[in-house]
Amino acid sequence: MGMVHFVYLSSGLVYSCCKCSTHLTDHSRLVSENFHGRHGRAFLFQDLVNVYEGEEAHRTMTTGEHRVRDLYCMGCMRVVGWRYIKAYEKTERYKERKCILEINITRQSRISPTSPTSSTSIASI
Ligand SMILES: [Zn+2]
Repeated sequence: MGMVHFVYLSSGLVYSCCKCSTHLTDHSRLVSENFHGRHGRAFLFQDLVNVYEGEEAHRTMTTGEHRVRDLYCMGCMRVVGWRYIKAYEKTERYKERKCILEINITRQSRISPTSPTSSTSIASI
């Protein structure tokens, strides 16, 4: 068992888990906002960070047959979305390797690159 390394996204619009605040992705990786997850609205991203991938599974969706892996938040092990492994419909192939993030269970916050990223204590002079 290795150490768990959390990726800290430090700029732009960041999407994090609303339960444990782990960063999951940022706006620069957004592909499409026009998706539906188990909890309603979902976005498609190029990739997510700080997630574990579950077992590959076959799933039938409104857009056809897919092979997917559920993605678990590394902070609280909640399912936050899934990764498309394979799409059987030609028109859906662009989704392969990309990730769905459930928007209703995430929080979005804008992080300024100039703001302090950690609580470094300021030494009194
Ligand atoms: Zn979490």
